[in-house]
Amino acid sequence: MPIQKTTERVNSNKRRIINGEDADVMQLYPIKHKFAWDAYIIGNANHWLPTEVNMQRDVEQWKSPYVLTADERLALETVLGFFTTADSLAANNLVLASYKHITSPECRLYLLRQAYEEAIHTHAYQYIVESLGMDEGRLFNMYREHDAIYNKDAFILTFNEGIFDPHFKTGTFASDQKFLENMVVFSIILEGIFFYSAFAVMFGFQRQNKMVGAAEEIQYIMRDESMHLNFGINVINTIKQEQPELWTKDFQEHVMELVKTAVVLESTFAASVFPHGIFGMNADGFRQYIQHIADRRLQRIGLLAAYGSQNPFPWMSEAIDLSKEKNFFETRVIEYQTGGALEWE
Ligand code: FE
Repeated sequence: MPIQKTTERVNSNKRRIINGEDADVMQLYPIKHKFAWDAYIIGNANHWLPTEVNMQRDVEQWKSPYVLTADERLALETVLGFFTTADSLAANNLVLASYKHITSPECRLYLLRQAYEEAIHTHAYQYIVESLGMDEGRLFNMYREHDAIYNKDAFILTFNEGIFDPHFKTGTFASDQKFLENMVVFSIILEGIFFYSAFAVMFGFQRQNKMVGAAEEIQYIMRDESMHLNFGINVINTIKQEQPELWTKDFQEHVMELVKTAVVLESTFAASVFPHGIFGMNADGFRQYIQHIADRRLQRIGLLAAYGSQNPFPWMSEAIDLSKEKNFFETRVIEYQTGGALEWE
């Protein structure tokens, strides 16, 4: 878009998450969507790199025949099989679709930070897989080979067809709903539901003092992902305020159906991660946990809980749901304290 030469100042009241081109997409100030600026600042404060984590103990544990059971090995490989490509799905959607259609400069600023974080996450999985001497080709290809991972990713990817279309433009009722649908699928479902059984498995390992380096990587990732989810929820709720006509009864029911489908896909994935249960967690527990998480996501975008399930893994809410920074550093301290006492042979 050419620049219009003018001394007229931008009216931030005209700024919109989508369809706000009139308010200039280049000028960060005057900021209207403060949540995006705040998220950007927090993202920077949380900066980390995968190679800062020492993987030595994990390498010893992974190579030893005595530390991990066959079920634990399968679980670790399967969650990594999901993780290795999940952040690439998210990154592509951000960079190739969301960024183009979002017209709030402060939201775009955060998207740049978020996209970099997705790259760091992919780096973290690569670092884990390489440190443990796993077969990279196999792990990174699992999203095309492993049924439950393929089904989750195929479901997600059907929803960017619309907004990836080079002719797609927001500004009509149908296309604005399509954009909102994409936000629901990528934020609420991919980042808010599809990562969570894999997170829980990694914390299961950590609680057993196993694979604590890999778990620490995942903890940093989870902290970032919870920011991504919060940002996505803020975007959805702000679009609802700016364009309330989009949030119809039919659309709300559609969102509910998408979330319910996601809960089935995620529960099926969880069952495939540990066919015999692991660390005292079984498929039933996981279904309940996923339903509990889904309810919370629905409530945060103003919908009713669909399941009413209690959280069967209260230790997960300690790990995830408390104040992110505080809990994160506490967990790290605990991890360092117990690290020296690990006996694995
Ligand atoms: Fe993300």
